[in-house]
Amino acid sequence: MTRTVTQSPPQVPDFQLSPALQEFRAYVRDYAQKHLGNAAYYDAETKFPREPVQVAAKLGLLRTTVAKEYGGSAMGNLASCVMLEEINAVCVSTGVTISVHNSLVNSLLGKWCNEAQKKRWFPKLVTGEWLGAYCLSEAFSGSDAAALRCEAKKQGDHYVMDGAKLWITTGSEAQLFVIFARTGADRVKGISAFVVERDWPGVSVGKKERKLGLRGSPTTEIVCENVKVPADCLIATEGLGFTIALDTLDGGRLGIASQSLGIARASIELIRSHLAGQVDAKGRPSASQPDQWTLADLAAELDAYRFLTWRAAILRDQGVRCSIEAAMAKLCASRLANRAARAAVSVLGQAGVDGSNAAERLLRDARITEIYEGATDIQRLVIARGLVAPA
Ligand SMILES: Cc1cc2nc3c(=O)[nH]c(=O)nc-3n(C[C@H](O)[C@H](O)[C@H](O)COP(=O)(O)OP(=O)(O)OC[C@H]3O[C@@H](n4cnc5c(N)ncnc54)[C@H](O)[C@@H]3O)c2cc1C
Repeated sequence: MTRTVTQSPPQVPDFQLSPALQEFRAYVRDYAQKHLGNAAYYDAETKFPREPVQVAAKLGLLRTTVAKEYGGSAMGNLASCVMLEEINAVCVSTGVTISVHNSLVNSLLGKWCNEAQKKRWFPKLVTGEWLGAYCLSEAFSGSDAAALRCEAKKQGDHYVMDGAKLWITTGSEAQLFVIFARTGADRVKGISAFVVERDWPGVSVGKKERKLGLRGSPTTEIVCENVKVPADCLIATEGLGFTIALDTLDGGRLGIASQSLGIARASIELIRSHLAGQVDAKGRPSASQPDQWTLADLAAELDAYRFLTWRAAILRDQGVRCSIEAAMAKLCASRLANRAARAAVSVLGQAGVDGSNAAERLLRDARITEIYEGATDIQRLVIARGLVAPA
């Protein structure tokens, strides 16, 4: 029986990156191999990977989410995910710096700022002359972001900002802060978003956190004391801050999902090469079956969650709301990163903890992917709420 060939377009994509994105992936992989080899040093010395970040800027990796008219490459979320997996597979501290800059700061400014604001800040951000930081969390406001207390009181042509933000990635290195502050009493509608520059009087960097992982990425307090914020640094309109914060986190979570994929991939590769080296006296593979099952399960999940992440990224690139899909991607990929890193340490045995390879660093770095940009339980909450009561 002959099959009828239809001319209709395929109903599902072929799960391949376009040639342009494959080329971009090779370009970023080359950057990661040539410039991120000192990841263990930055971790051990708790030193910011300044040079690798500057090289990334020169290569155009700090402008993927910015429109071309403002100096960006407008490559979008899928390209950013592909890029972040490559970078995080080698250096997670560099990865989070670039993820926050692109997906939490540049994306936010591109979507919510007016023309004058974009022309003012993008020239410095796309070149990496300035790094950006996203300041939502406070001492009493983490998962419950609407509980934030930092205040911005309107006084004539400016606001006066007072309060402290905690756990801010790139805090000590950034020159531009997106700060969410209270402009009204309403828990949600009383929150507004502002751009605050590092050099303004009253802005200072407070304590630097000592962390389990991501030790090359400085996480600090950002303190605002009586800071005069010009009214034209308000983003969008008063009261829109919470909407902006959550919308931006949908994109940010894709960055952390990709970071998790990178950690998982690096961990799986450690397991794979360890098992490949196990041979009997006749040179035949001799890895134990449980170890092979571990490798197979992790490798299958890595591919599955990469597609979950890319699906959400494609939706976001199409301008479709993807809160549930982004939460699913981060939930699954971050859990995988932790399982894979733990398995690598187990399978490698003593070599998994002695620092002779990346296993123990990956295990420490992986833990944080289940905490920031919405802890694991918060992702489950977002998914369940979205399913129970669709918007
Ligand atoms: C390395 C690092 C970098 C960070 N960078 C930034 C940054 O750049 N900018 C920024 O603004 N913030 C940043 N954060 C803060 C981060 O977003 C918060 O840590 C995170 O939102 C969790 O808040 P929390 O730590 O206060 O924990 P909590 O909110 O106290 O949550 C702790 C646990 O309680 C449970 N829980 C809490 N609420 C609920 C609920 N409603 N339902 C079910 N379970 C719940 C969850 O299991 C959760 O894991 C960073 C954090 C870390 C660790």
